[in-house]
Amino acid sequence: MKNYIGLDIGGTKILGVLYDEKGNPISKSKKKTKASEGIEVVMEQIVKVIDDLIEDNTVELAGIGAGIPGLVTDGGIITFSPNIPLRDFNLRKVLNKKYDVPVVIGNDVNVAMFGEFKYLNRSDLKHVLGLFVGTGVGGAIIIDGKLYQGQGAAAEFGHMVVNSDGVFCGCGSQGCLEAYASKWAIQEFLRSQIKKGRKSTLKDILETDDVIKSSAIEKAYSEGDEITAEAIDRAIRYLGIALGSLINLFNPQMIILGGGMMESMGKTLLSKLIEESELHTMPGLMKTVEFKLSELGDDAGVYGAYQLIINNK
Ligand SMILES: [Zn+2]
Repeated sequence: MKNYIGLDIGGTKILGVLYDEKGNPISKSKKKTKASEGIEVVMEQIVKVIDDLIEDNTVELAGIGAGIPGLVTDGGIITFSPNIPLRDFNLRKVLNKKYDVPVVIGNDVNVAMFGEFKYLNRSDLKHVLGLFVGTGVGGAIIIDGKLYQGQGAAAEFGHMVVNSDGVFCGCGSQGCLEAYASKWAIQEFLRSQIKKGRKSTLKDILETDDVIKSSAIEKAYSEGDEITAEAIDRAIRYLGIALGSLINLFNPQMIILGGGMMESMGKTLLSKLIEESELHTMPGLMKTVEFKLSELGDDAGVYGAYQLIINNK
């Protein structure tokens, strides 16, 4: 039986899963990325994860898929990654040469959302968008059942401008969705309000932690913390603007909502988000869109990488 490896290469850890050809996970390996130690060490770590998974000599490796944060072109060349020191690096070629199997690499969010789509295993679904709301905001475009990546950087939904005079974004532009709806944006908003002297139950955590947990934001929100409610309402308003435009552009059958913020707050916020999206959607289009919360959690990346390789080898 043929085996495939799905890799989720993150800024802090590399997760790999070995699958059989039916998509059942067989074994798992996890190592630190050691991103600060440079490209050679990172490559060693990637190889260690793969070698761990193929150690058993009954494994018949037939392909490797991987998701990595950043810009990936031509299915394998990492042009730039914000948190891993791989720049203009042909990871596909390196892994292909070492293991002599087909290799496909994609952007991590694209790949994870493709995994969520495939996991649904619904033959009626062909046109689907994935919106990922975590520390940043990203997405995925699935057309005719296939992941659409443009030249490699498609579906950067977080950098759709939703307010041209708005808040500055990490990308250098102004008024991007990510500058309002990401966990980073919500934290920044809360910090700015606390600085103005407003009260919040999140004050202590915001002062001690660089990054707060989505679950802490959800708790403050559900307990009625005033500035948290303002931050979330603002995020939902801008997500609605973006989703309305995306629905008008792509006429999708489904929108899958993923990422840490959606995992912890999706259930609470879904009806509000649909309401806000409808305000910006052309009449009639909303009726045929299904909204779905992601189901795979941390496994979305590896499962999506497995699906990427079996669909593109
Ligand atoms: Zn931006």
